[in-house]
Amino acid sequence: MTIDHRLIAMLVCPLCKGPLEAGRDADNRLVELECVADKLAFPIHDGIPVMLESEARTIATPTNPVPQLAP
Ligand SMILES: [Zn+2]
Repeated sequence: MTIDHRLIAMLVCPLCKGPLEAGRDADNRLVELECVADKLAFPIHDGIPVMLESEARTIATPTNPVPQLAP
C-alpha cells in the first residue's frame, strides 16, 4: 500500500498548517513530505508519514547551488 495524492492533500504541516509537497527520489518514489514555508521535509517510514518536527529534515537553502535535478 502506498501513499497517494489524496492522502497528501489531507496532511498539513504540523507547524504552519500549510500544504505539503511530495518529495520523491530518483525512482519517483515518495520519500518525504515537504513544507516549503518552513523548509522542512518530513520523512515517510514504511509508508507512514512522520509528521514530527524533531524527525524532519531541513531543506537546504540555495545559498550553495549544487547541480541537481536541473531540467
Ligand atoms: Zn510548515
